[in-house]
Amino acid sequence: MAQAYCVKCRAKRDMKDPKEVAMRGKGGQERRAMTGTCSVCGTKMFKILGKAEAGAKKAA
Ligand SMILES: [Zn+2]
Repeated sequence: MAQAYCVKCRAKRDMKDPKEVAMRGKGGQERRAMTGTCSVCGTKMFKILGKAEAGAKKAA
C-alpha cells in the first residue's frame, strides 16, 4: 500500500484511495505525484514521486 506523510498525524500513514496524478510544472515538465487520504484521520495527503519512479522501484 502507498504511504505518505500525514501533516495532521505527523507520521507516515497508509494512503486510502491512492491516485496517481500528473502535475505540470514550469517549462512544461511533468511530475508524478500521488494523492489520497490518511487512513487514520482522513486528511488529504500528497506525495511527490519524482520522475519516472512510478511503479518501478529499485530493489536495494
Ligand atoms: Zn492522519
